[in-house]
Amino acid sequence: MPWCDPCERFFNPNTLNRDGTCPSCGKQLAEPQQQGWRSVPWHFWLLLGALVLYLGWRLIQGVAWATGLF
Ligand SMILES: [Zn+2]
Repeated sequence: MPWCDPCERFFNPNTLNRDGTCPSCGKQLAEPQQQGWRSVPWHFWLLLGALVLYLGWRLIQGVAWATGLF
């Protein structure tokens, strides 16, 4: 439970502002909540990278087939 000195009260983490500041006085009480793409787990990007590589390879194969290189 984050304690706010100026307000002399405890705050539920859910009642803090999204950046972790006190809703009454704006004092930084907690770590800013991670949001957006930064909160996506790393293995998601690994999977996405593998998918992009795979699709890129398939695209190259398709273009090579279409242009009669193979
Ligand atoms: Zn406060």
